Amino acid sequence: MKNQVLDIEAKYEQDFRRTVLIVDDEPVNLRLMGNILGDEYDLFYAESGEEALDIIHKEKDFLSLVLLDLHLKGMDGYEVLKSLQSDDSLRAIPVIVLTSDKEAEVKSLELGAVDFLSKPFDKTQVIKARIRRSIELAIDRNIISLTGTDSLTGLLTKQFLFQYAGEYDKFHPDNGVDAIVVNFSKFHLLNELYGRSYGDKVLCAIAEGVRAVARKHGGVASRVDADIFYMYIEHQEDYETLVKEIKIPLESVMKPGDIRLKVGIYQDIFHTASLYQRFDRALEACNLHSKSLQSESYIVYDNAMHEQEIYVARLLEDIDSAIKQGQFSLVFQPKYDITGKGAKLCSAEVLVRWRHPKYGNVRPDFFIPLFEENGLIKELDRFVWTEAAKAIRRWKDMYGMTIPVSVNVSRVDIFDPDLTCFLKKILSDNGLTAENMHLEITETAYTDNTSQFFNIARELRNEGFKLEMDDFGKGYSSLNMLTSLPIDALKLDMAFIKDIAEDNKEMKMVEFIISIGQFLNVPVIAEGVETKEQYLLLKKAGCNLIQGYYFSKPLTESEFGALIEKEEAEK
Ligand code: C2E
Ligand code: MG
Ligand code: MG
Repeated sequence: MKNQVLDIEAKYEQDFRRTVLIVDDEPVNLRLMGNILGDEYDLFYAESGEEALDIIHKEKDFLSLVLLDLHLKGMDGYEVLKSLQSDDSLRAIPVIVLTSDKEAEVKSLELGAVDFLSKPFDKTQVIKARIRRSIELAIDRNIISLTGTDSLTGLLTKQFLFQYAGEYDKFHPDNGVDAIVVNFSKFHLLNELYGRSYGDKVLCAIAEGVRAVARKHGGVASRVDADIFYMYIEHQEDYETLVKEIKIPLESVMKPGDIRLKVGIYQDIFHTASLYQRFDRALEACNLHSKSLQSESYIVYDNAMHEQEIYVARLLEDIDSAIKQGQFSLVFQPKYDITGKGAKLCSAEVLVRWRHPKYGNVRPDFFIPLFEENGLIKELDRFVWTEAAKAIRRWKDMYGMTIPVSVNVSRVDIFDPDLTCFLKKILSDNGLTAENMHLEITETAYTDNTSQFFNIARELRNEGFKLEMDDFGKGYSSLNMLTSLPIDALKLDMAFIKDIAEDNKEMKMVEFIISIGQFLNVPVIAEGVETKEQYLLLKKAGCNLIQGYYFSKPLTESEFGALIEKEEAEK
């Protein structure tokens, strides 16, 4: 087998058969040309201009050249040339005219023909050489028009990569290929911490790595965005080594432990996906790195991911009607004040539940992030807040007491200019005030976009809303920043509680966080408390509020009502 390298030079190698269309109204000429070219090219024949155009339209992606007789019955060769020139998708196909008329040569060159062959025909070798040369020149021209390079890394552009990959697929339909996406995790931090020129150095090192590996495996590499690189190479088996090789140049600009490369791979052995799909899927696999806890050096897109992709698309198909059909419901998880004797019911957190008619219960920690990515969360959250306000009202009417309910406010909601107005309206519609509804905002919303966030947080607090920082400890609040953050409570991330035991490291951490709350003069809420031991340890450490299965699972509105009633009766 010939070495089928996806390299610029491969275009000139005779490692695949190109296709040529011969147009002549004399069957004998067709046969003659066919005999000359048949051993080197796949051939189409046309006896009229109309038939020629028909074939060209159908086979344009596969045609390398057209040999065109000028004197045809009906539509003549000039008209065929004009027609090709006026169509962007056909103009790049080189045409050699066949004629015995010297005058006609000039005219046809003016109309876009690349060369001519005089009748009666030259020697076979000459014909073959001119045809080969015309095809090569046309390929060069197409490539040159696309060969933009990235000024920082010198890598080829994405447009070139796609063009090249398309060509490769066309001519090597039986070769398996890999689309690979390489990304440096949290690259912006390098720029922020060490300056842009260091960031550039890192990008150049990644470029060097992907270029070398792409070359080695007969492929091309390109930088498509700041820190995102694409590679298109022959299908590989050993990705461990491939990733190691990509990293080699990086090792001379940073410590190996600091190299946070994410690599996503889509293998297309049988060319079943389009080029765009392949890279989208490789990118999806690449993005899974941040979601998965293990630090694999690469992730290969697999069938399960494909099914997941389809599942997600179906889930998100029609949220409007899902809300209208009542697929979403609310549950309330009690929070207990443990600062006094025993534990006293003091508030609740509302959590949304989704019962999908086809897929059954869908987990919030699965669909909430999806809704956030797709901008659907705003609608869902507004539904949840509105229903929560109505529930608070109903409990007040039934039991004569208002229990403040915390609602989750997604980081996406924060940028809704109408947020404060909307919250005020649903409260006033139900005769409630801002004290009755606390807002849980995840810590990462605080740290992602500080200045804009601060303004909104201040506005909300001025209106009397209490802000609880959810999942505290998961984000990266600096201690310095914490002192100036607009917060009214810290909600410890569940992960901190999980393994606490008397005097262990985890417990020390929790004690430290509680002392931060005390320093800031805000209560600390522990969620995900599942055992008595955890509860007692937290109480001893000075934690203020507790939420978790140990006290109660999330409850329906009526179950929670019954709890309020019981609490009232015990007073
Ligand atoms: P979160 O706000 O941190 O909510 C606490 C999660 O912990 C809830 O999961 C709750 O059911 C669970 N949980 C409570 N007690 C325990 C326990 O003792 N052990 C364990 N292992 N888990 C406990 P859920 O309901 O699955 O919600 C997951 C996340 O989804 C929430 O985390 C929140 O970020 C988001 N979410 C839920 N409802 C909404 C909503 O209406 N809007 C928005 N934007 N996000 C929501
Ligand atoms: Mg929450
Ligand atoms: Mg939480």
